[in-house]
Amino acid sequence: MAAPWEDVLRDEAAIQEAASVAVDAALLEGVLMRTEREPNASDVVNYAPFTLLPSAVPSTLFEQAYAVQQDFNLLVDAISQNKEFLEHTLASTIKVDDFTAQLFRIHMQVLEEGLAQSVFLGINRSDYMFDCGVDGTPALKQIEINTIAASFGGLTSRTAAVHGRVLKVLGKSEEASRLLPNNPSKGLALGIAKAWELYGSQSAVVMFLVEEVQRNIFDQRCAEVGKDWPGSVNASGFCSSDGQEVAVVYYREGYVPKNYDQQNWEARLLLERSRAVKCPDIATQLAGTKKVQQELSRPGTLERLLPGRTEAIARIRATFAGLYSLDMGEEGDKIAATAIADPDRFVLKPQREGGGNNLYGEELRQVLEKIRDSPERTSYILMDKIKPQPAMNYLLRAHSPLQVSECISELGIFGVYVRQDKEMVMNKAAGHLLRTKAIEHADGGVAAGVAVLDSPYLV
Ligand code: ADP
Ligand code: MG
Ligand code: MG
Repeated sequence: MAAPWEDVLRDEAAIQEAASVAVDAALLEGVLMRTEREPNASDVVNYAPFTLLPSAVPSTLFEQAYAVQQDFNLLVDAISQNKEFLEHTLASTIKVDDFTAQLFRIHMQVLEEGLAQSVFLGINRSDYMFDCGVDGTPALKQIEINTIAASFGGLTSRTAAVHGRVLKVLGKSEEASRLLPNNPSKGLALGIAKAWELYGSQSAVVMFLVEEVQRNIFDQRCAEVGKDWPGSVNASGFCSSDGQEVAVVYYREGYVPKNYDQQNWEARLLLERSRAVKCPDIATQLAGTKKVQQELSRPGTLERLLPGRTEAIARIRATFAGLYSLDMGEEGDKIAATAIADPDRFVLKPQREGGGNNLYGEELRQVLEKIRDSPERTSYILMDKIKPQPAMNYLLRAHSPLQVSECISELGIFGVYVRQDKEMVMNKAAGHLLRTKAIEHADGGVAAGVAVLDSPYLV
């Protein structure tokens, strides 16, 4: 699975030159982020971290990930409409996890009142790693699916051009020409535009909800400018309101507890009650919880959620790693004991998003030991740890020395769908994202400062 540039990795002079070309190319192509020091100003910006070289990805697994995306779109959409499933699945979690409980309360309240919304827009990203099985053959295994604020669909469309330049500088023009075109944010924008159109009000606007700290604004702007809008688009913050009707609410925040104070919870409820298309609505956000992911892996669950769709179910299930409930009872007791005895086999996951929340190794053991007999454990799930084959690469970050690292990658596929009442009117895989990190970091994405942007080089 090695890429054909192992030879240059040790050529220090060539790497130095390629790195300076790479950084300039990133700035030219718009692989940009605001700085940590001035997160809300674009006067001084820098490049978003990225790999010097594209990473090898087995083409069969890449195709498999694309091929299952429409199935995942259908599945997420089905879960979001299945009150009983969400209620049953999250019952133990919401007793101990306040954030999920609050989301769930709004979900139930809105259902009781009756849904005002009839057009639904889903934008998700299903993430995978390439697990090295016992015989060394890599297999596509899902890490998670993000159903809210899935990011980097904009910046990732620009990394192939950067890597193309780097490969050319290194004398690899043939390989450069094989890098794939990719533009997820265009697909996102088309989804948003379709939802806006079906909402059916010429004067209504699309509202982007963004965090107060906006380092990743250039990524968000890509979805905003990815289409010629028939109407005017208003990129506004959570609290601003200019008296215009909102057709679509696109969340680029709202997935962590710190996004909410009392006023924001009330605003969330207000939006959920409205007929605006929420991307995502609260049920779809709940469909993306780790607890739901774990429940999906139980025998028979997919069959209940997607009746009659045997082939889709087989494609989905093939990507599942081992997932385990920590609910109180014998099953949970048993797997907790197994994980305490052999923590390196597992990842312990709370119901959180955004990277940096999972527990591994010794820390996993200590935490699980402490809560093993307490209902608190049900706020977590256990997952088999995926073990990809590492590859060498250079991670380019502003103000960091150039050094080679042993790296592993995570492939994400963006899904976009639009449903009007019971009818799916759009269901697409919109593009991909490859993120790469040094193996010494167990957890964390690009926003968390651990992973960097990459491009797949199919082998
Ligand atoms: P989040 O919603 O916070 O992104 P993830 O489930 O994606 O949560 O986990 C965060 C990171 O932890 C992933 O990007 C990946 O690097 C690592 N990780 C998660 N699950 C596994 C796993 N089963 N095996 C190996 N690494 C994992
Ligand atoms: Mg996530
Ligand atoms: Mg993740």
